[in-house]
Amino acid sequence: MKIGVLALQGAFIEHEKMLSSLGAETTEIRQKKDLAGIDAIVLPGGESTTCGKLLKDLGILEPLKGLINNGLPVFGTCAGEILLAERIDGKSSTYLATMPMYVKRNAYGRQLGSFDTTADFKGIGEIPMCFIRAPYISSVEDGTEILAEVDGQIVAARYKNQLAISFHPEISGNTAVHQYFLEMVEQTDTLNIRQQAS
Ligand code: GLN
Repeated sequence: MKIGVLALQGAFIEHEKMLSSLGAETTEIRQKKDLAGIDAIVLPGGESTTCGKLLKDLGILEPLKGLINNGLPVFGTCAGEILLAERIDGKSSTYLATMPMYVKRNAYGRQLGSFDTTADFKGIGEIPMCFIRAPYISSVEDGTEILAEVDGQIVAARYKNQLAISFHPEISGNTAVHQYFLEMVEQTDTLNIRQQAS
């Protein structure tokens, strides 16, 4: 099982370390050709506007969107969650727009921009959650399951092969959400997805 980690900017090394500690092989995605042969992809936190622009400029956006729509498992954290959202509050443009949910960027304001808490994650239990100028999910559409909420706001959701969270498990030292994602990948017939896309 080979997990691609989008490595254009942001917290990609921390994800690679966490996935490796769980026994998964990782590969960095920097160009369109790097998408070949991956079984899943992680979209790390960073700056969604910068990352989204790079995805477009490098010609990765459209092929990646096709793979995700074909069922490639994807795990978006923070800025990665924004890249997946079908709508971004206050913005007319979107990026991958593969996941039926609305998100609000920098949703916690300047003062509360970064904070740590613990909350329940469906199917896992109570885990630490570290928020850094985070978005939250302002609403989900039919078929998107809410997995975690903090103070009444949605901070984790899943839609079929897509997992999106507002916080940063890669820096908390808690591997549970990465493990959850690897189990999603194990349950997917990724060879079939790649064949359909080519
Ligand atoms: N505020 C960033 C954005 O809007 C996300 C921050 C993060 O990924 N930690 O893209």
